[in-house]
Amino acid sequence: MNFEDLDRVTLGAGAPSSGKTEFALGMLVAAMRRYGDGNAVMTVSGRQIADALGDRAIRELSAVAFRLLTAVRSSQGEPLPKLLNGAEQDVIIRKVLASHVEHRQHGDDCATCDLLRTYFAVSEWSGLVADDSTDAFANQLRDMLARMNEIGAKPQFEDMLIARAASRDGMLDERRERLRTQWRLAFALREEYNEAIRSSYPGEYRLDASQLMIDATEAVSGIQEADIANMLIVDDFQDTTLAGFALLEALHERGVRLLLVGNPDEAVQTFRGSYPEYLFNQAQTRMGARLERIEGLQTAHEGDTAQTVSNQQGMHGDYRTLVATRVSLSIASTESTDVPLPDRPGKMSDMPGAMPIETLPADDTGARVTPTAVWKRPCTVPLPKSSTTWCGRSKLSICNVPVYGTTWP
Ligand SMILES: [Zn+2]
Repeated sequence: MNFEDLDRVTLGAGAPSSGKTEFALGMLVAAMRRYGDGNAVMTVSGRQIADALGDRAIRELSAVAFRLLTAVRSSQGEPLPKLLNGAEQDVIIRKVLASHVEHRQHGDDCATCDLLRTYFAVSEWSGLVADDSTDAFANQLRDMLARMNEIGAKPQFEDMLIARAASRDGMLDERRERLRTQWRLAFALREEYNEAIRSSYPGEYRLDASQLMIDATEAVSGIQEADIANMLIVDDFQDTTLAGFALLEALHERGVRLLLVGNPDEAVQTFRGSYPEYLFNQAQTRMGARLERIEGLQTAHEGDTAQTVSNQQGMHGDYRTLVATRVSLSIASTESTDVPLPDRPGKMSDMPGAMPIETLPADDTGARVTPTAVWKRPCTVPLPKSSTTWCGRSKLSICNVPVYGTTWP
């Protein structure tokens, strides 16, 4: 696919090792040629990756959000954003929790204290809230506040979310009641947390990293044309949070051309608010993204010393590709779809023996098949057959399956 083939929003999906990042980098170079250096940006999913790629045009999506917000606030003469660091955030959270411990000690009426008592299901809950030895509740609260922002649980959605905690027929069992209490408590504590930030830093615009994405999204409509890039390329799109997706959508509405590259199966941020297959669907339905498959090499990398199964068995390709294909085709979709599994975004092409998994023909030629994914220099130390180690290392369980005729030293 060439740069000219890209749509207003293009969704590039590719199997593992199909060269997605190289593809994204190539498109970034083309976009910089087309729009000028400062008008094309690529985002990656972590600062370490951004640093490793080492280019001013490559950064995290949060850094893009920070620049946008700074530009808008600057043009409006408002205080510029300053992120709360972890220690500052801890101080704020402790301050909020300490206020309720004080209410409890003084016997003050407080709706949040009532929720805390219901949540902990004990009358003496203050020691659980402010436990200096573990900080367990404070740590959980910090994560909860971040996840709420990342999934877009805005204050205006509180009643709707709490209503959804009931069953379809409106019934509430003990578990659903508890869920409601948790949501109420989380929303109440977040409001107090935000208020504590404002009162601790009067006249400043302080915010944590999860709030940054929300505020930047709201600011996009007010950004000046000169401060907005023509093109944004998002690598590892599958790890975008829902809040990040809302920012991309706002940028799209402002005319920013988007190239979203990734594979739902490679997501590593689902624990913190990314819903990869949902994102892939939403990019197509809400932003009209055209899905393109990034076709790359799915076989052994150049320079690998592994032999291929096909040398002996003709049609199974190299062993690593076969195993990777089995894994790829074993990961079912989390979203309802009529598309056959091998045709879904990011899936490896089906191959004989992959799905359903078939036993490979026994190697009766005496030639040895080397599993490429776990190839090691042959061990010269004889080991008993019952050994579970190989050259001093634990055998990978997959290597102990004798169905494909591999002979281990
Ligand atoms: Zn209280």
